Amino acid sequence: MTTAPQEAENPLLNITDLIDYAAVRPEHVMPAVKKLAADLEKALARATAPETPATWDAVVVPLEEASLAFSRSWGAIGHLQSVVDTPALRDAFNEALPLATDLYLRISQDEALYRKYLGIEKSDAFEALSPVRQRIIRREIRDFELSGAALPKEKRERVKAIGQELSQLSQKFSENLLDATNAFELILPDESRLAGVPAETIALYRASAKAAGKTGLRLTLQFPSYLPAMKYCADRGIREALYYAFSTRAAEFDDGKYDNTPIIRRILELRREEAELLGFKNFGELSLATKMAKDPAEVLAFLRDLAKRSRPRALEDAGEVNDFAKKTLGIDEVEPWDRPYAAEKLREARYSYSDAEVKRYFTQNAVFAGLFRMVETLFGIEIEEKRTSVWHPDVKYFEVKREGKLIAAFYADLYAREGKRSGAWMDGERTRRRLPDGKLVTPVAYLVTNFAAPVEGREATMTHDEVTTLFHEFGHTLHHILTAQEEAQVSGINGVEWDAVELPSQFLENFAWEHDVVKAISRHADTGESLPDELFKKLIAAKNFEAGAFCVRQVEFALFDMLLHAEFNPKTDSVPALLDAVRKEVAVVFPPKWNRFPQSFAHIFAGGYAAGYYSYKWAEVLSADCFSAFEEEGVLNPKTGRRFLTEILERGSSRDAIENFVAFRGRKPELDALLRLSGIVDAPQASKKD
Ligand code: ZN
Repeated sequence: MTTAPQEAENPLLNITDLIDYAAVRPEHVMPAVKKLAADLEKALARATAPETPATWDAVVVPLEEASLAFSRSWGAIGHLQSVVDTPALRDAFNEALPLATDLYLRISQDEALYRKYLGIEKSDAFEALSPVRQRIIRREIRDFELSGAALPKEKRERVKAIGQELSQLSQKFSENLLDATNAFELILPDESRLAGVPAETIALYRASAKAAGKTGLRLTLQFPSYLPAMKYCADRGIREALYYAFSTRAAEFDDGKYDNTPIIRRILELRREEAELLGFKNFGELSLATKMAKDPAEVLAFLRDLAKRSRPRALEDAGEVNDFAKKTLGIDEVEPWDRPYAAEKLREARYSYSDAEVKRYFTQNAVFAGLFRMVETLFGIEIEEKRTSVWHPDVKYFEVKREGKLIAAFYADLYAREGKRSGAWMDGERTRRRLPDGKLVTPVAYLVTNFAAPVEGREATMTHDEVTTLFHEFGHTLHHILTAQEEAQVSGINGVEWDAVELPSQFLENFAWEHDVVKAISRHADTGESLPDELFKKLIAAKNFEAGAFCVRQVEFALFDMLLHAEFNPKTDSVPALLDAVRKEVAVVFPPKWNRFPQSFAHIFAGGYAAGYYSYKWAEVLSADCFSAFEEEGVLNPKTGRRFLTEILERGSSRDAIENFVAFRGRKPELDALLRLSGIVDAPQASKKD
């Protein structure tokens, strides 16, 4: 068979080792997606054919080859669309999107494939499979069953219909929230009522008015507009008006045009029905079936313990703000719209330092060199920059070696530019695995951030915030590329429980707050000096400011979310009453009666966090507790580093996250390290050592 010349020239199809990114054009997208989707369809048909034996080699292997080929190209296309978007590329991506979405969905619900997996599990040969392969088969079966594949036809159809209705309701929830947010504006003729607001925010208000065809200044409920006003605007009336508008969004007020109240109830009813159809008592149980936490009771106990232990500090935090507001700002009764303002004034009075001053110390080359040296010491690797074909001249490519042998690689795309999505993230480009012929495929990752590009002739510098972001994403990167797994489904971050996947990233972030590390990664742009101790102390103090108050707020949201999905009856119970009860139990400050927080809680009604909001704190506990082992044994102790590598980073999802944790730490997770590292409880006085 001869290959069409276009195919041979398509860099998305013609992948031998690395993708030739510089050669990818929008016109390559559709032909590549069509060809690889057709290959995958063929593999699926073969795997599910009646005459195909239910064995690992006949079903799993060929399907996986086709599926990985498809997802690698499709992943690369999605990546390019995120980082070097052009109208032509976006059109090509959007043209291919329905094809890819539909294909993935069909495979995940394919009943014949589900039967083949069941067949493998029931066969005599199953016991002869490696424990990891047995785990993969069982997990696939679980996932099929969670999408309703095992139910009789009528119920299966109902699960599908619920899924569709839920996705429409989530979409409507987001739209209402967005429309309600956009419907508000506050127009001011001049700056006279904006004393205290930073000049760049004032400029934003002016630009916003101009863009809307108004004169003067325009304040909205979008975060870049809303947050600085709440934090800095000295005029109490402005803050109150904004707060009222913000916290009554998407509710019954203003004709209820964007009211999310009935949507919330319907979502909760459908989730409960879905959970019951799938054999669970409630949606909380269904959500946790794929997570590290066992059941709602475990999550509730965790949250309540955290609340109990952080509440004293939260009460202190709130009291301090009240006292300061009274004495210094002349506010006797601190209302919710005063709190961010008063807290910011207190923070400035106590820990003032300038971000710009700190930034001069974190020159980018020093930060990267220091970070690389640190992980090289901890995990026994070498990182080396190499040249290869990339999608933008600023992109760097690094090889990772151990004892001189190539084990992985990653691309670093660091700078903000037009056509690049904002934020920072890591994505797997290629997964580590052993091919049927015995050859090893090494993993590749994308590390993406949006730091400011260096100005011609000057070295780039980073805020400490950006440094922690880099450490965070580098933690994800290491998790993906330092895996030792040889089956794609358990390799790197694949299949890692959702509430444990932030462990390595948050873990690495802790190092950016460690004195020795900060010394090693800082080098002043002019003087070459590392960050002075005095500035470092201020950084730490400012980080821990209001930690108690922040923690109980997160617990309030998480507890509300879990109770809503585990114990709440959507047919008879009241959402506001539940939220009131949660606040009485854990909160230290109380919003006014007209606050409609649930109507804008998009994480759980329009995002993926339903019965999962606790994950933020859950993963923080794990990461802080892992980091505390380094504090005990030496922050840069290679022995501790190797243990973290072999028990956690290398394991992927080849065993449960809790087993990884216990193997590393020698015990179950405890809250103490998080409470200490976030400044909620004081560290015990260290005995003097040199
Ligand atoms: Zn993360």
